Amino acid sequence: MTTLFEKIIAGEIPSQKLFENDRIIAIKDINPAAPVHILIIPKKVIPNIQSLAEDDLPLVAEIVKVAQQLALDVGIQDNYRLVTNCGVDAGQTIFHLHFHLVGGRKLHGLG
Ligand code: AMP
Repeated sequence: MTTLFEKIIAGEIPSQKLFENDRIIAIKDINPAAPVHILIIPKKVIPNIQSLAEDDLPLVAEIVKVAQQLALDVGIQDNYRLVTNCGVDAGQTIFHLHFHLVGGRKLHGLG
């Protein structure tokens, strides 16, 4: 089944894009949990981090680089959280791998 993020990547659903290259996009989360809440999403269809293949590991490294740059761009480089939810009980609602870059306020427990 096509996920919402595939539709966003294809431009079929609008988003507030902060970064894009051939492999990755970063968009503002529609329901931000903090003043800064950015989703960093590989364009490749990968359901979640548990299904990531060894060949895809460089993509995760690139996502981390993108997160570092975005954190600098928005001024949260000293205090932020970079998380990915894997599975329904962990809070995953969209089964296309993505990382939440969250900051801009004091963050508490992971819930
Ligand atoms: P997760 O719960 O980890 O799967 O994260 C999915 C995230 O996607 C949630 O934080 C939602 O607020 C966010 N989200 C859902 N729909 C959209 C949308 N159309 N544009 C941007 N973010 C969205």
